[in-house]
Order: sequence, then structure tokens, then C-alpha cells
Amino acid sequence: MVELLSLTQSELREFLAPLDKSAFRARQVGEWLSRGRKIPEMTNLPAKLREQMSEIAVANPVSVREVRRSEVDDTEKFLYALPDGNIIEGVLMRYHHGDTLCLSTQVGCRMGCRFCASTIGGCARNLSPGEMLGQVACANRHIEADGRKVHNVVLMGSGEPLDNYENTVKFLRLLNAPERMNLSLRNVSLSTCGLVPQMRRFAGEGLPVTLSVSLHAPNDEIRRKLMPIANAYPIAEVVSAAREYVEKTGRRAIFEYALVRGMNCELRHADELAQLLRGLQCHVNLIPLNGVRERELMPPGRREAEAFLNRLELRHISATIRREMGADIEGACGQLRRSALDKDR
Ligand code: SAH
Repeated sequence: MVELLSLTQSELREFLAPLDKSAFRARQVGEWLSRGRKIPEMTNLPAKLREQMSEIAVANPVSVREVRRSEVDDTEKFLYALPDGNIIEGVLMRYHHGDTLCLSTQVGCRMGCRFCASTIGGCARNLSPGEMLGQVACANRHIEADGRKVHNVVLMGSGEPLDNYENTVKFLRLLNAPERMNLSLRNVSLSTCGLVPQMRRFAGEGLPVTLSVSLHAPNDEIRRKLMPIANAYPIAEVVSAAREYVEKTGRRAIFEYALVRGMNCELRHADELAQLLRGLQCHVNLIPLNGVRERELMPPGRREAEAFLNRLELRHISATIRREMGADIEGACGQLRRSALDKDR
């Protein structure tokens, strides 16, 4: 089956050419695709063409299986089904700067971070560009009746986007394409655990996305305890690749730092982090660890987190503590998918 949402506009024209000679067909289909419609719903196409297309293609491979809405803050968590029976998840957050969709790039993840639920069952497979774009299309369709639209996209759901490099880059180009989502890449953040060669390659793609780097530690010793990837790339190289990204793209770098009790949140760790990031145009996002059922790690207390923040600011590092959203709906990475898998067993 061809996934129409994975095709660029010129690939779509090639796909349609043997079926229909009309010059405007690809434009019509493209409009329906960007609105998340299925082939039978493309009502301005001849019935015969829709039939022929349905035999060999699917418009959006993603369908919504369940939506949970947080009682606390209107955050919505989506559980999506894929054609091969896999399930993935995403979160839609309502911020003052617009609706923000957090999406998955792989089914599971193979990076093995110790605090993360997404990695527990390993990585089943990569998502296609259409399966990433399909998550945006589904969310848009879910909120269009309220006159809302996904305004920002963060690649912070399950999966390591740079471990699925080609598909992620094609997805970003489709997300930006005027014939598809027409979303400015300045409203997109890509989060990586720090795959250095891919970070360097990504800096050369000419895509103005914000790079978020999951640092989570001020030095290699602590980082290796939390993230196996730290055995492959030293922290100094990760920071230097982020620096190159900033220099090449003119975009800011964001460092994510999950605060883990007894591990990385003492004041001397804040000092070490400030030293590591000195002179780099960046922002540090402090995330009090979201306790995961399957994991033994815990967040620090509020006061310890605030002391860490103050210490970074004293050292002239711009930082904030991330506001927790959707805690009542298993908003953190991989949690809803895990509990759905548990239920299915
Ligand atoms: N693979 C990418 C993106 C996925 S996760 C990456 O590693 O950056 C998005 C962010 O959530 C990452 O910074 C990740 O480390 C963090 N994260 C995962 N589980 C978490 C948890 N239980 N508590 C707090 N942050 C978590």
C-alpha cells in the first residue's frame, strides 16, 4: 500500500499520473491530505478514481484509537493505531503561544535511557514520514471544529528522531510544505539524546528547527549512569555539536535536564553544568523527573529544584523549571502506550 501522506507533491503527481490526466488532481488530493481526510472522503474526485486509489493506497496510515483529556489543564493525550497493529502516542498541549503537538518518531525506542518508559520494550520499528505527518493530521482534525490548529510541533514523544534520520527529515519538509501542513519550522523543536554525527549532519539540512538536547547530567560519569548513549559520545562532543548547530543555523539550543533525586541535582552539579555551557547561546529546561511505574528513579523536592535553578541563574545560564502538564493522563513519554500494552496482554 502506498501512503499518500508520505509523498511530496511531485511524488503525488507521479502517483496520480497513470490514474488520472487532470492537471489539478494532485492539488485537490494534497488539500484533502493536509486536512487529514481519507480517500473515500475526497468528495471532489470522481468515484471511479477514489475506488482505484483505495485499492493501492491509503491517505493517512494513522487513526485515533483513544483520546484522554486532562481535568487539570486541557492537555489531551492521543493513542493512535497504525496499519500493522502497532500503537503510538502523542500529546496536545494548549499553551498561550498556540496548540502544541508532541509526536512520536519510532514505535518504542532503542536508546535505553534509564528513566524513560518509551524504551522499555525496545524499538519495534521506525515511523514513516506519513505516520509522523498523520499524527499532525489527526490532531488537526480533532480540533478543527473549535477553530483550532496545531501551531507548534515538538519531536519529544516516543523514539529518537535522529535514529530515524531520513524519515524525520522528509517529515519536516512535508510539515513545512505549502501543499501540506504549511507549518513554519521555526515552530518546531527536535529533541535528541545526543547522536553527535547525526546532529552535525542535521545542522547542514537548512531546516530552521530548534534543537533540544537531552543532557540530564553535568559530566560523563553521571550521564553514563542515566543514558547508555553517553558511552558512545562524550558530553563535551555533544555540547560542541550543539554549539555548531547554533552557529550554522542561528537557532537557539535548548538543553533538557531531568532532575533525578540523589543523582544530578546538587548545587555542585549546577556549577559544573554552568561551566560546561559557558558562552553558548542556550536555555536549560529543568524537568523534575516524572516517576515511571517500571523505574525506581524519583524527582527531587520542589525546594531542591528551585535551588538548582537559582544556582544556574547566578552563573548566568538561562533556565526554567518545566511546568508539568497532563500528569493525570499519563502524559510523560511512553506511559500511556505502556499502560495500553499492559491492558492488551
Ligand atoms: N529521544 C529524544 C526525544 C524523546 S523524549 C530525546 O532523548 O531527547 C523527550 C524528553 O523527555 C527527553 O529529554 C527525555 O530524556 C525526557 N524524558 C523521558 N522520560 C522522562 C521522565 N520519566 N521524566 C522526565 N523526562 C523524561
